[in-house]
Amino acid sequence: MVDLAAQYAGIRKEIEREVLGVLAGTHYILGPQGEALEKEVAAKLGCAAAVGVASGTDALHLALRAAGIGPGDEVVTTPFTFIATAEAIAYVGAAPVFVDIDPRTFNLDPALAEQAVTPRTRAVLPVHLFGQPCEMDRLTDLCRRKKLLLIEDCCQSFGADFSGKMTGTFGLAGCFSFFPSKNLGGAGDGGMITTNDPTFAERLRTLRNHGSRVRYHHHEIGYNSRLDELQAAILRVKLRRIGAYTEGRRNAARAYTRLLAGSGMATPHEAPNRTHVFHQYTLRTDRRDDVQSALNAAGIASAVYYPIPLHRQEVFAGDLSSLSLPHAESAAAQVLSLPMFPELTGEQVTRVCRAVTEAVSG
Ligand SMILES: *Cc1c(COP(=O)(O)O)cnc(C)c1O
Repeated sequence: MVDLAAQYAGIRKEIEREVLGVLAGTHYILGPQGEALEKEVAAKLGCAAAVGVASGTDALHLALRAAGIGPGDEVVTTPFTFIATAEAIAYVGAAPVFVDIDPRTFNLDPALAEQAVTPRTRAVLPVHLFGQPCEMDRLTDLCRRKKLLLIEDCCQSFGADFSGKMTGTFGLAGCFSFFPSKNLGGAGDGGMITTNDPTFAERLRTLRNHGSRVRYHHHEIGYNSRLDELQAAILRVKLRRIGAYTEGRRNAARAYTRLLAGSGMATPHEAPNRTHVFHQYTLRTDRRDDVQSALNAAGIASAVYYPIPLHRQEVFAGDLSSLSLPHAESAAAQVLSLPMFPELTGEQVTRVCRAVTEAVSG
């Protein structure tokens, strides 16, 4: 699905120099690399501050915690996402309220989100799934009218914008993952929270470091959730190339869509006024399992993100057995993601498309 070796080959010398520099410098946690990365990410995305943490899951968890969301609160979110989105809501003792998606974009439907708001709702947590921004004009308007916090799950959308404004800068917090296969990925786990609220940023810096602002002075229970200096050094090298990486993904997506026209597969819908950064290139077909077996047989990778919507996951299903979210359920039954990474060649795309077309017709 992802050829990390192809990416490494292009930046190996620079990465090795930076990594060796950190090793020799022996400052491994909360040092100059992390600080520089935070400033560079904030500048790149156009927000006041960014705070490095240990993972995307922690970014979501600490953002919700620092926002003061807790037991008795409800957070409106999508059921069609990775489990971590809802796990983070559960970590703080709040209840995820799953609402159905727009079947064209796979993203949270703003009208249904509004209908789900109750007096207990504190926040809306949209996910820019597969790298395509949600309807941020309607979601920010909803949050303003209903006095709700907006916390974006940007784990798949680094560099994506809606009407020229970067994902992660619309509300109180944007939560990013630097898991190796993400659009901006490290050589291990990592994450970051972006915000325009300096007080909130300070709260996050305290929470990630054992509730401590001054060493060995602790005024609240915090966590150990830092982005380490080796990861930060590696991520800075890749951040300098993120524009080209996004362009590589978008070029591959364009080639896929051109070659799959008329194949009978539904290719991704790109909604207007936004840049889709194609963390995944995801098809829809009611013959998904047949197509996937045929691709397997041809030695071509494919993946199902995600086969079970969160309201049907065992951990949540007990309370939600009567909840029906038909668009999320049918997406889970029909989606199939093809290999996607910036270095994908035209030849590789052609080979994948030929196999897909044969699978559909065969
Ligand atoms: C990857 C991902 C996460 C979790 O990020 P980690 O860094 O793996 O903890 C959360 N939400 C979404 C949508 C993701 O894709």
